Parts: sequence; C-alpha cells; structure tokens
Amino acid sequence: MNNLFTYGIDEYPALMDSLGQPTFRAGQLARWLWQRDAAGYDAMTDLPKELRARLASAAPLTRAHVATRQVARDGTRKYLLAFADGVSVECVGIPGRDGRLTVCVSTQAGCALGCVFCATGQGGLTRDLLPGEIAEQAVVVGRDFQRRVSHVVTMGQGEPFLNYDATLLGLRIINATDGLGVGARHITLSTAGIIAGIERLANEPEQFTLAVSLHSAIQTQRDELMPGLRGQSLERLHTALAQYYEHTHRRPSLEYTLIARQSDTDAQLDALADFARSLGAHVNLILLNKMPANTNPIGDDAPQRPVGTPQRSTYIPLSENHANEICARLRTAGVEATLRASRGADIDAACGQLAAR
Ligand code: SAH
Ligand code: SF4
Repeated sequence: MNNLFTYGIDEYPALMDSLGQPTFRAGQLARWLWQRDAAGYDAMTDLPKELRARLASAAPLTRAHVATRQVARDGTRKYLLAFADGVSVECVGIPGRDGRLTVCVSTQAGCALGCVFCATGQGGLTRDLLPGEIAEQAVVVGRDFQRRVSHVVTMGQGEPFLNYDATLLGLRIINATDGLGVGARHITLSTAGIIAGIERLANEPEQFTLAVSLHSAIQTQRDELMPGLRGQSLERLHTALAQYYEHTHRRPSLEYTLIARQSDTDAQLDALADFARSLGAHVNLILLNKMPANTNPIGDDAPQRPVGTPQRSTYIPLSENHANEICARLRTAGVEATLRASRGADIDAACGQLAAR
C-alpha cells in the first residue's frame, strides 16, 4: 500500500493494471487529480464505484490541506500546505502580466545544505517530498488564483537535486498533457549546484530550464556562504555546466545574491564575470531578502552554529541603485545580467524566506 502521491504519472497505467483495469483508466485518474482537482476518489464519478474503493485501499489519497494563506501588497500569495503525515511546506503564487502565473514550489520540507543567508537552511531537513506533493503545490495555487499555471520554479524550500527522482517525477506531472500541461521550458530547476544532478539533468528528455545558485565565484567565499557544499570545487561546477551546455544546447542561468561588502567587491565581480562569460550564462542578480524573525538566528546563541560561521548581521542587502550599477558593469564586461524583482517580501514570501516550521 503506497500513498498515491508516491507515484509518477507514468506509473498510473501499472497501478491500474495491478487492479485489473484497462490503461485508459490511468488517464482518467490523472485528469481528475491534476486538472479537475477532485477532493478524493469518491469525486471521480466516471470511475466504477468498486474501483474507487479498491484504489482507496491500494493507493490512499489525501489532498494537501491549506493551513494558512497570505496575500502580499503586490498580489503574490503564500501558502502553508500540510500533507497527510502533518509535515508542511510553503509555496508561492506570483501573478504576472498577460495572465502569467508562476508557482514557486518546494521539493523538500526544509533543507540540509544550511546556506547562511537562507531561512530554510537554518531549520535543517525534515523530509523529502513525494512527486505528487510537489505537483500538488501547483494545483493548490492554480485553484486559488482560478488561473492556469504558466510557469513553475523549484525555488521554494529544499534542494531539488538532493531529492532528484521525486522532483523529476513531480515536474513530469506538472508537464504532462494529462497533468497540469505546463511547458518544459517554463519549468525551472533551481539548484545550489549539486554536480551529480546537473549531469543527470543533461540526459533527461525534457527541455527543463536550469538555474544554478552561484552567489560567489571565489571558492573561499562560496564555501562560507554555502557550508553544505564545502569541498565542492567551483572548477568542477564550471566543467559540469559547460558539459551541460554542450550536451543540451540550453544555457544555464546563474543566481547571484547581492550581499553588501562581500559580493560587490571588484574581485568578486571580476570572478563572476569570468565564470558567467565563459559559459555564456545569464546572471540573475537577487537582492538579499531578510530572514523572517521566526527563524533561528545565526548568532552567538545558536547552538548549531558551526565554528567560524559569521553572524547574521554580517549579511546586509545592497541598495537597488547599487545593484543596478553592478548589473550595468556586468553587461559592460560582456555578461547578460538582470536584476530580479523581489516579490512578496512583506509576507516573507520572497526567495530564501520560506521557513521550515
Ligand atoms: N536549493 C535551491 C532552490 C531553493 S532556494 C537553490 O539554492 O537554488 C531558491 C533561491 O533563493 C536560490 O537561488 C537561493 O540562493 C535564493 N535565496 C536563498 N536565501 C535568500 C535570501 N535571503 N535572499 C535572496 N535570495 C535567497
Ligand atoms: Fe537549501 Fe537553497 Fe536555502 Fe541553500 S538556498 S539552504 S540550498 S534552500
């Protein structure tokens, strides 16, 4: 007996087969779940009643419960979703022009990597999410906005490449015709830079978009900001990204959070420009968002703070003007760069503010 959310959409035919059902039932099930948002098996009225009962015991289905919902001044909405076992994650809906709706999904409850500026990283990892739990977040947001989900990014809680299989299965549900039907190029995997994951993604058939959180192209600084990746060399990351491009002909983008007096020095910006230019990668500059007050501070009183970890007050955002200057400087250096607008900061819904509760 497996929770239905354990299955990828391609596994529904085998599930139906194991119950002695024809394959077309798999498509019916998928559409009820991911398009028609059925509350449970009982709502799937064109499945035989006996089948619904057998499904309920063979593959129990509990839809996520929206525990809290907050709306920001700019229209961004943040949700706390609770799953069957009570574990909860946050996800975000970001409405845009021309009917766009971007959903920022979590791939894990919490995160083990502990990046020093990220609220999720301060609480550690609770557990991996299941494929259906990842897709469910897009369903909940689409339902609430009463709009088709047009884009999905894995920029919520967790590191997608440390939950690779479930993340890919979840994104395939989001991408599938019988699923949410979001185009693969509109689905972005954001990773802290797990090399094995980048190598695997290069060999997947879908044209998903890859974004890598770089934050510093200088080894010592990156090790300090991203302690969970200490020991992983930037050189290997660069090689993996170059190979990814060679293999897929899709350019990865680089996320770079701007931290005053750290990421804005000449040495840092020159290193970033070299790293990005040689890959032909687009750089997304991000203004550092403050950590919500309810997350464990990185401070002298935090018992889990590893020796040598700087205090939270070390991390100060840059002004927007300064960030725009950096953007212009990178362009002059031959790098495609944009400053990403931060959305939903007044409800702590922006990048890095999603807390494991
Ligand atoms: N683990 C993945 C995806 C989730 S984090 C990753 O790290 O890419 C999504 C994005 O938010 C990453 O680019 C991350 O670096 C960024 N981020 C984390 N904390 C932030 C903060 N306080 N301010 C701005 N961006 C932050
Ligand atoms: Fe994890 Fe990404 Fe946050 Fe780092 S930035 S702690 S990898 S969620």
